[in-house]
Amino acid sequence: MSSYFEARNLDVYYDKVKALSDVSMVLGEGDIVAIIGTNGAGKTTTLRAFTGLTRIATGEIWYQGKRIDQLNPDQIVGLGISMVPEGRHIYPLMNVRDNLLMGAFLRRDKAEVKRDLERMCERFPFLKERMRQQASTLSGGEQQMVAISRALMARPKLLLMDEPSLGLAPKVVREIARSILDINREDKVSVILVEQNSRMALKLSSRAYVLETGRVALEGASEELVNNEDVRRLYLGA
Ligand code: ATP
Repeated sequence: MSSYFEARNLDVYYDKVKALSDVSMVLGEGDIVAIIGTNGAGKTTTLRAFTGLTRIATGEIWYQGKRIDQLNPDQIVGLGISMVPEGRHIYPLMNVRDNLLMGAFLRRDKAEVKRDLERMCERFPFLKERMRQQASTLSGGEQQMVAISRALMARPKLLLMDEPSLGLAPKVVREIARSILDINREDKVSVILVEQNSRMALKLSSRAYVLETGRVALEGASEELVNNEDVRRLYLGA
């Protein structure tokens, strides 16, 4: 198998309810790929399958020439795949610094971890003044940036992001969007971006998948999907 990342014919069930049917996706190294779809379409389930948090019933997942669908979540993080979960899921009672260090829990290179904390402050300058602040007291946008930084502290090569723009003001959404592009281009991190903000997702990505009730309904180059009439009507409100 030659793709950087590839999911083949995934089926996922929650008890007897089928959440994903025959889902196949491909991502090339360095790409940003978007997954869009309405509530309950299976976007989160797809990311959870990729990270080993939800077991697939059938199918295969390959990353850098290695089959990963039988691995546990820690092993998958260890291979360089990190997730920024929906709703951020930061540790509210911990301070910002400890939240970031949780992302590095598998790493033993202490000096490099410290340097990466500094690099996160360069990427998101507000972090510098907030290292000792309790995470629950941050704004929604700041919490999202902590969640992204925490995922980056694992030094991923592939970052899975679940609705990073959810509930944020347009100005903050633009900031997050810019940081996703920077992370992709400067840190050379490939990205799978799940979004209900389809406009943003299609703008940032080179390819996209449209999920509908657990199936891939459409896929293609993002700039073509932006002009697709069904996508415009159903997902872009045009
Ligand atoms: P949203 O945008 O609302 O987060 P989504 O596209 O991410 O939606 P999923 O969360 O993947 O969709 O859900 C896909 C389907 O699986 C839905 O019908 C949902 O109700 C169901 N589902 C998700 N998690 C569970 C669970 N733990 N147990 C049972 N059913 C679940």
